[in-house]
Amino acid sequence: MIKVTNLSKVFRTEEIETTALNGVSFEIKDGEFVAIMGPSGCGKSTLLNILGLLDSPSGGSYELLGTEMSGMKERERTHFRKGNIGFVFQSFNLIDELNIYDNIELPLRYLNIGAAERRQRVTDIMKRMSISHRAKHYPQQLSGGQQQRVAIARALVANPKLILADEPTGNLDSKNGREVMTLLTELNADGTTIIMVTHSPKDAAVAQRTINLFDGQIVSDVKNEL
Ligand code: ADP
Ligand code: MG
Repeated sequence: MIKVTNLSKVFRTEEIETTALNGVSFEIKDGEFVAIMGPSGCGKSTLLNILGLLDSPSGGSYELLGTEMSGMKERERTHFRKGNIGFVFQSFNLIDELNIYDNIELPLRYLNIGAAERRQRVTDIMKRMSISHRAKHYPQQLSGGQQQRVAIARALVANPKLILADEPTGNLDSKNGREVMTLLTELNADGTTIIMVTHSPKDAAVAQRTINLFDGQIVSDVKNEL
């Protein structure tokens, strides 16, 4: 369960102050698939980064999986993130110098999982994502759709309870985008909680609920029609 209470975020540079989030509150149940929409600059990525423990709020509080996050020490946050959260970005964010196998294995190395189990888990997830034949290739040798499959495999390999996806189909053509959405739907059917930022009403319709942001505030939070 995720509980967000009056969350705010202000970015301060020398001259300028930007309020990216302004009093955001909501709850998300385990196993829910929620889409976040809104115009460019309204705070979607900021919200996702805070939920994913990649950034900290300026005010408010939030619980992930029953644990309060604000005030948690940096080391604990990193540990919590690596053990519980999988991130998928629009830009894939694979490491160019590592082959596909090593990219996917990385989160397991961070968690100090033994070699035999690492091999098993990476092999399994590559099979599931239909990318086994790409193990020795490098990211630049793959198409965008294939790179996003690898990025999803990397997000999943540590069995996270929560997947955060920031415009996961944003750099993909419509066929690859649909495949990525199918994968996310299957994961959700298996019980993974998913929060996905998207500009596409079609992609949002796959989720069970849509939260609309405008100017750092929630303007609507509605169940999607089936
Ligand atoms: P979205 O993902 O909805 O397009 P963002 O969350 O990326 O929007 O950004 C929300 C607002 O915060 C924007 O005005 C953006 O310019 C600002 N912002 C985001 N990140 C930073 C940062 N690191 N420093 C300063 N301003 C930022
Ligand atoms: Mg964004």
